[in-house]
Amino acid sequence: MKAVLDHVGIAVSDLPASLAFFKDVLGLHVEASEEIASQRVRATFLHTGQSTFEMLEATAPDSPVAKFVEKRGAGLHHVALRVDDIEAALAHLRSRGIRLIDETPRPGAEGALVAFVHPSAAHGVLVELKQPASKVELFTKAVRHTLGDFELITLSDGFIGLDGGAMFGVVPRAVWEKRLPPDDANRIPLGMRPLLVRSGKTTLLIDAGCGDKMDPKLAQLYKLDRRYHLDHALAEAGLTADDIDIVVASHLHFDHVGGFTKIDEDGKLAPRFAKAKYIAHRAEWEDATHPHERNRASYLQENFVPLQDAGVLTLVDDAAEIIPGVRYRRSGGHTAHHQVVMIESGGRTAVFTADMYPTSVHVPDPWVMGYDLYPMDTLAFKRAFAREAIERDYLLFFEHDPSMAAGYLREKDGKRFVERMI
Ligand SMILES: [Zn+2]
Ligand SMILES: [Zn+2]
Repeated sequence: MKAVLDHVGIAVSDLPASLAFFKDVLGLHVEASEEIASQRVRATFLHTGQSTFEMLEATAPDSPVAKFVEKRGAGLHHVALRVDDIEAALAHLRSRGIRLIDETPRPGAEGALVAFVHPSAAHGVLVELKQPASKVELFTKAVRHTLGDFELITLSDGFIGLDGGAMFGVVPRAVWEKRLPPDDANRIPLGMRPLLVRSGKTTLLIDAGCGDKMDPKLAQLYKLDRRYHLDHALAEAGLTADDIDIVVASHLHFDHVGGFTKIDEDGKLAPRFAKAKYIAHRAEWEDATHPHERNRASYLQENFVPLQDAGVLTLVDDAAEIIPGVRYRRSGGHTAHHQVVMIESGGRTAVFTADMYPTSVHVPDPWVMGYDLYPMDTLAFKRAFAREAIERDYLLFFEHDPSMAAGYLREKDGKRFVERMI
């Protein structure tokens, strides 16, 4: 259990007098007041950088804060610790026999979930646990879109938290954090969104998320959240893993192809989609099976070598047509042979942009991930591709966007933006 000081609660009997000290003398910035009806209290927040002072003023004589002030006088009331998962934190405390005031979390200020630990268990200190409301909308649903003769279904294999600095390369945090606010460990929530392409006779899956084989330590480091995962998404689309005919890899990083294999009943690695043939790019395969210090952590052999062992793998080259209307297009940049997938039918084009536009926030040309091995190649590809996408009205799929599965890149008065579609 990892906890970070969120705020210090101070019971006040005379708010203007308190503010005269904290605001006027110390120079702290007064944030906002919020009435918490269930506690019959008004909270005024003062910012001190990473943490906050919460001035608590009773709004009724029977408020717990009124009773506190009556009994002990104004002053330190509680400390609040921020946790990622309040249910898990409470379960952990219960397992240690810690006495709790709240057995289950309840709604607190600003949409957070909170629970109090009894002061008798915390050496006389009233401790609040707080799971802040996610600042990012997390979207999982399987959604259908018709593109000419194809049916496209965007799926989800849950969410992963990657370092915001690494995700935005040279863009300063002060700029990107407004678009994708990070957690206390600087991680931003990212989706993993495989895409189904269905034609009359073929069901094709592009990428498959990170799957269920991730080492628990890594899963914690990456804040893996697969409460809703690919099997749920397939079921929502009315399918199972056995309905997939072809599985295609944009590239072989673990967050894209972890779901290509599974551990079977005998404890052996096997293809996850039993009836499918798998397609990967030949040169990407070479790189993935001969990793170096810089990319080794991303290329986990267990995710793709078993496909070759099972004889279900086909390696193809640049611009390969996978089925009529679906083809690879090399973007490079992220990895030397990273591919986007072009899907064309009835005069319309959709593009599975994989790690070229990992999120809709990454559409400005220089917003290139720090992970990219060849950032100048990414920049060159993005520059040309963006023009094309705007002029030809491409529907873009954003594999890692936490809230948006697909949208159109638009330009108005020289400004670019993404119009959300799914
Ligand atoms: Zn990647
Ligand atoms: Zn990725």
